[in-house]
Amino acid sequence: MSPDPSPLHHPALLFTLVFLAALVLSVLTRLWLSVRQSRHVARHRHAVPAPFADRIPLSAHQRAADYTVARVRLGIIETLLGAAVLLGFTVLGGIEALAALARAALPDSPFGRQLLLVGAVALVAALLDLPLSWYRQFGLEKRFGFNRMTPSLFLADLAKGTVLAVALGLPLLAAVLALMDRAGPWWWLWAWLVWVGFNGVVLLLYPTVIAPLFNRFVPLEPGPVRERVERLLARCGFGSKGLFVMDGSRRSAHGNAYFTGFGRSKRIVFFDTLLSRLSPDEIEAVLAHELGHFRHRHILQRVLTSFAVSLAGLALLGWLSRQPWFYQGLGAAPQPGDLPGAYALLLFFLALPVFTFMLQPLGSWISRRHEFEADAFAAHQSSADHLGRALVKLYEDNAATLTPDPVHSAFYDSHPPASIRLARLAGAGGAPRASPA
Ligand SMILES: [Zn+2]
Repeated sequence: MSPDPSPLHHPALLFTLVFLAALVLSVLTRLWLSVRQSRHVARHRHAVPAPFADRIPLSAHQRAADYTVARVRLGIIETLLGAAVLLGFTVLGGIEALAALARAALPDSPFGRQLLLVGAVALVAALLDLPLSWYRQFGLEKRFGFNRMTPSLFLADLAKGTVLAVALGLPLLAAVLALMDRAGPWWWLWAWLVWVGFNGVVLLLYPTVIAPLFNRFVPLEPGPVRERVERLLARCGFGSKGLFVMDGSRRSAHGNAYFTGFGRSKRIVFFDTLLSRLSPDEIEAVLAHELGHFRHRHILQRVLTSFAVSLAGLALLGWLSRQPWFYQGLGAAPQPGDLPGAYALLLFFLALPVFTFMLQPLGSWISRRHEFEADAFAAHQSSADHLGRALVKLYEDNAATLTPDPVHSAFYDSHPPASIRLARLAGAGGAPRASPA
């Protein structure tokens, strides 16, 4: 038999080519979007857009433009580095090299070797990422006045994050690998149930156990803000237990408010940076927006969607993990005596984002639709005018650009562009309040 030169007859080679093509396509798309965004923002740097002209000074607009361009540049480096690391782990043999080390370290324990291999890949990836996250905090964020972190706090966060990742991640990993090894062809269904249960436990523990490891939470003090907030909660039919202020200012000058937990552990958390910057009217409007997400069940929808997507993903992994070309094509085939589970998990979760990147605009579009719904809820229950004023302050404080490239925005942005969002709110300005305040 003569050798067949066509890759179509070699599934592993064909898969390598498909993977490389998808990687090149996603990297080029990212770079193209970055260039568009930089150019668009730079072109509109000289003047504040008309709807904001009387509310945002030119200096703040230009700072936002410079911050946006600086972040895009860092993003380009991250894209290129990420692609290089991915190639290094897969087709260039990084996982195989780490697997050889694991084999030498634990020759008699195929199961323990799997844990060691996943741990080694995670460690190498984290070490490669460390210089960039250090630069992001102490280079970029510091240059624009957002960083409030000290290097010792950064390192303490890193240590706590690592301990937490091992404490939560290692039992999960061991359970999934054991199922892959012993539970037969339907292992992925059991793994999905474990994943859903794990998420439930984390959601339950997050507000009361995990978040307090990193921040201090104090109940919102009595006063004009608390009064406004409690009246809003009462008129929207929410209990007012669990109002907390978080010391976000320890790390960053960016402000925020969020909901967390479910059932009895439900909390509403305000960053201290948000409270110090907005008036009670504006805080009420921002909270009304968050309540809108809750009332429209956006949070529940997001959780259920993620469970459905993870079920589909695990079913796909269940099938891929039985295909020899999947391992060979990505450059990390298990050796005799190895269990394949760790290889399958690593290759799947490393390669998957390359293939799902083009779905990003869909997720962004759904998220932006939710934002409009939450804004409409806030306009009705609080005030469109107050929310608009709060947003303008937050755009200015966060140096968020008012002039994003429309294509970049459609692709990535979870929130609608400032001008469209404000225009919609202005249109809703005449809506009556649910009750006088
Ligand atoms: Zn929102």
